[in-house]
Amino acid sequence: MFDYLIVGAGFAGSVLAERLARVSNKKVLIIDKRPHIAGNAYDHYNEEGILVHKYGPHIFHTNSKDVFEYLGQFTEWRPYEHRVLASVDGQQVPMPINLDTINKLYGLSLTSFELDKWFESVAEKVDTIRTSEDVVVSKVGRELYEKFFKNYTRKQWGMDPSELDKSVTSRVPTRTNRDDRYFTDTYQAMPLHGFTKMFEKMLDHPNIKIMLNTDYHEILDVIPFKEMIFTGPVDEYFDFKYGKLPYRSLEFKHETVNKEVFQPVAVVNYPNEQLYTRVTEFKYLTGQQHPKTSLVYEFPRAEGDPYYPVPKPENAELYNKYKKLAEATPNVHFVGRLATYKYYNMDQVVAQALTLHKKLTELEKVKVPA
Ligand code: FAD
Ligand code: UDP
Repeated sequence: MFDYLIVGAGFAGSVLAERLARVSNKKVLIIDKRPHIAGNAYDHYNEEGILVHKYGPHIFHTNSKDVFEYLGQFTEWRPYEHRVLASVDGQQVPMPINLDTINKLYGLSLTSFELDKWFESVAEKVDTIRTSEDVVVSKVGRELYEKFFKNYTRKQWGMDPSELDKSVTSRVPTRTNRDDRYFTDTYQAMPLHGFTKMFEKMLDHPNIKIMLNTDYHEILDVIPFKEMIFTGPVDEYFDFKYGKLPYRSLEFKHETVNKEVFQPVAVVNYPNEQLYTRVTEFKYLTGQQHPKTSLVYEFPRAEGDPYYPVPKPENAELYNKYKKLAEATPNVHFVGRLATYKYYNMDQVVAQALTLHKKLTELEKVKVPA
């Protein structure tokens, strides 16, 4: 009899498996329907021997010392600050929009102070910032919105930014200085030997059994367990009782080219002309030296593996119905990006899983012995 069946071996499931096994001395079975652990953070060496991320670029960044130190038990870190260029009007310019972006795009030589005024002069007044369009036009005006955000967002999400919650484009700041880092978090680093190696270490414990290529429906009635941690899509768990929660998908086109360097930074965004949103060159992320280089192109899709919950009001409402069901389901705990329908980064999922572990520990303490 397992104490826990954990469905999904991504960050949510693996952090809980590790904590429950090592700290709480529970017997854990962790399963995944994919043929590997690490969920969407899975990386592997391709046929040319280059370390690539199967499900698109994963860059670790966090402001949480606790999360950083927790994961640091399972990996050494390679310091890495992420930089992105956007291909706009035939030039590659820094993204997030900063002082150099504007000066380069318009052939100007503004100072930071002047750029502040410039943004003020082009910004549109929005009384209540509600949507992803409001966020951008209220800061940098309509022209930059159209060059950098409008088409990228329509392509990525299959809907106009005016239909999406403000949280989506709020992920990307606007700057008047020359800081060209994509993130400004306190801790920015990549696992030195990759994400999968880090997960292998997390799950390496005698209390943890791993079963891959297994959908949880296949084993529910066969393998006995006391409690379940579920990290798959919450609507699927409840057989889509209230209808399907929309998730946005991607198709990844991986490619290796016979030259050492392909592009000037790790990621180039293509808001306008291309069918893909961005191109990633993995060697920047991993620091690997190799005479060839591997890339991934991301093509947004409506159908396919569920990658992104879609933040908009009616979806939040639908999710809340599932959340109520989840809360009323005894001995099953829902955690992670798909099971709580939240557009979470890796560090947020780790934090959420650590919090659930604490809660389970507290519950255990107050349980009356049988
Ligand atoms: P997942 O990693 O999705 O794990 C869930 C697992 O459950 C999957 O492996 C799935 O196969 C399994 N599963 C589902 N249903 C079943 C079933 N019925 N039976 C058995 N197993 C099942 N975050 C960052 O911090 N930085 C980034 O740069 C970044 N880039 C990203 C890029 C892309 C393209 C995407 C899609 C996401 C990115 N993220 C990034 C977010 C990051 O991937 C997630 O925050 C994190 O992986 C979520 O972990 P999770 O365990 O909740 O979900
Ligand atoms: N975005 C955009 N243009 C860009 C970069 C981002 O319009 O060049 C918008 C788009 O809606 C995207 C969101 O901002 O989905 C968040 O961007 P982020 O890079 O955080 O997306 P992720 O890495 O999560 O796919």
